[in-house]
Amino acid sequence: MLDKMRNIGIMAHIDAGKTTTTERILFYTGKSHRIGEVDDGEAIMDWMEQEQERGITIQSAATTTYWRGYQINIIDTPGHVDFTAEVERSLRVLDGAIAIFDAVRGVEPQTETVWRQARRYNVPCVGYVNKMDRLGADFFFVLDDVHKKLKIETAALQIPIGKESSFEGVIDLIEMKEIHWQNKGEEMKVVDISPNREGLAKQWREKLIDTLSGVSDLVTEKYLNGDELEKALLKSEIRKAVIERKILPIFAGASRRNIGVQPVIDAIVDYLPAPDEIRPAIGHKQKKDSIEDVTIPCDPKGQALGLVFKIQNDREAGSLCYVRMYSGLIKSGTAVYNVGKKKRERANRILRMHSNKSDAIDSLSAGDIGVIIGMKLAQTGDTIGTEGLPVLLEKMQFPEPVISISIESKTISDQDKLKEILAILSKEDPTFTIRENDETGQLIISGMGELHLDVLVTRILKEYKLGAKVGNPQVTYRESISNVNEHTETFSRVLAGKENAAKITLRVEPAKRGMGNNYFYAAKSSKSEAPQEILDAIERGIKGAFSSGIVMGYPCIDITATVTDIQYSEQTGTEFAFEACANMAFDEACRAANPILLEPIMAVDLNSPHDFVGEVMSLVTQRGGQILSMNAKADEDEIKAQAPMEKMFGFMTSLRSVSQGRANFSLEFSHFEKKIER
Ligand code: GDP
Ligand code: MG
Repeated sequence: MLDKMRNIGIMAHIDAGKTTTTERILFYTGKSHRIGEVDDGEAIMDWMEQEQERGITIQSAATTTYWRGYQINIIDTPGHVDFTAEVERSLRVLDGAIAIFDAVRGVEPQTETVWRQARRYNVPCVGYVNKMDRLGADFFFVLDDVHKKLKIETAALQIPIGKESSFEGVIDLIEMKEIHWQNKGEEMKVVDISPNREGLAKQWREKLIDTLSGVSDLVTEKYLNGDELEKALLKSEIRKAVIERKILPIFAGASRRNIGVQPVIDAIVDYLPAPDEIRPAIGHKQKKDSIEDVTIPCDPKGQALGLVFKIQNDREAGSLCYVRMYSGLIKSGTAVYNVGKKKRERANRILRMHSNKSDAIDSLSAGDIGVIIGMKLAQTGDTIGTEGLPVLLEKMQFPEPVISISIESKTISDQDKLKEILAILSKEDPTFTIRENDETGQLIISGMGELHLDVLVTRILKEYKLGAKVGNPQVTYRESISNVNEHTETFSRVLAGKENAAKITLRVEPAKRGMGNNYFYAAKSSKSEAPQEILDAIERGIKGAFSSGIVMGYPCIDITATVTDIQYSEQTGTEFAFEACANMAFDEACRAANPILLEPIMAVDLNSPHDFVGEVMSLVTQRGGQILSMNAKADEDEIKAQAPMEKMFGFMTSLRSVSQGRANFSLEFSHFEKKIER
């Protein structure tokens, strides 16, 4: 049944019409019985109260629907860069995506960001040019813009009939028929191509065949021989090329006016891959002192292996863990094993989610997406699977939190409740972190941008109805080391009359920038033999130390820590002693390894009318920014720059004032660099 399954997402720049299009898809596939209008704040996927108020999609929700006998799991992805964690996590579990473009605006800066991510995860895509009814809509401009900016071969499978207010349908270039929509889009009428449009249709059909010849030998051969190009052959060759990401087939429509949506649903089935048609997932097999990469074939009969890609907290049901299964199957009411945390948990119930309801199912198997209820320890990014199979699925790459604010409850008695809520929120969102300042006891929350933290604080106030005060946003720095160092730490403490002792030798070394932290155990001497619980305690101690900093208390990055020796005695060697000793060993080893402070550098994408571009660029350089490129377009200039986060606070206000409110920008984390004094 795998061939009858699709896991897809819909990605776009904010406002391109993702929510509206998803709504229409759910409507036509028969799962929702009214069409929710985004503008009325009643769209079905945007179920969070706040999303409705802001009119943007924040959390991805997975929804299952059916079309032509195929099961389609749709994962909604947000368009705003402050929520790239959501985009990343959904792309990680998708097998294909619909990329939506606005017919007037074409490719926008955030579309490029999302496209880069889709490329990183090798996600095959089909393109949809929405809003063909808007004033200034230009299908052919968008084709060209996509080709130039996203650097992919585009293949128009349709051309629009009419545009702006007279947009009424499309010409299907494979069937060579016109499709018109009537009666609120529920009736599709397929007719012969009108004689006055025949010329244009033939011309674009030629272009399509030409593009396909570039990627398919079969098409080239038949074309050169003058043989007939059957529809089925064209479709299967397009399918192959899409799955290999060689072409982007493009459709046209106006979702709000119910024009053009059904062919896009057909495209999901016809051109996007089934779970076993894409490259198998990669897992990391944990060995004692190294990690080996293994491929995970999508096989329902294999050993169970799945990825928790999303957690939502439900007041009644508890944690809803969204899981993508890659291999094997998990049965409802049985134990599942959390591979990273080395703990068993129970999958009490398994649900298939629809946009506004859910069905209990007996099991979830390879290729499928569903929700497991009952797991308390699982966090976003965790691998669940089979005990005795130490394979971790490839990590999700979440952007780093770069902005922090302090937060405290209005009344002292609410402080513990605030901590609880923050813990729930950070479990749902791995780019949101909390730490407590050791000296002041103040709670510091960190996120990816001002909007991100703003949304979280609003949720605390509104959804959880807890009064809280927040401080001014500040940069979250990181700490790392610049030298290799080895250190031996001993620990000994008498507790309740019993001695707790440990001795650990730890080597720390700087890893390449961006590689993250790594932990290895390589102690081999005869004295170092210790039970698994002790080795686990050491690992906990080191990993705990990663997050608490070296000198300034900021999280550590890009450090490889290797235990090279330990001394363990059965009488005094307790888990407590080894965890504490490992923690201290890490701090001491790093302190003498020339610690450094790293600062977040942001990618700044700007659009400015020609008249203000000089002021805009000097504003960026005044703030320590570097201009990387400038691209002149008809009505405005696009500038790409990089700047340190610490100089970017309040940038929006300054930008507005130098450009009379006409320039706009997006800010996204790029990388960490050694902090320089300015
Ligand atoms: P999202 O941010 O990508 O989820 O976009 P939405 O679906 O929320 O749509 C953004 C705005 O564009 C809303 O006001 C929609 O009503 C409007 N919109 C969506 N589709 C169309 C369309 O086909 N034509 C026009 N003119 N407006 C549309
Ligand atoms: Mg939306």
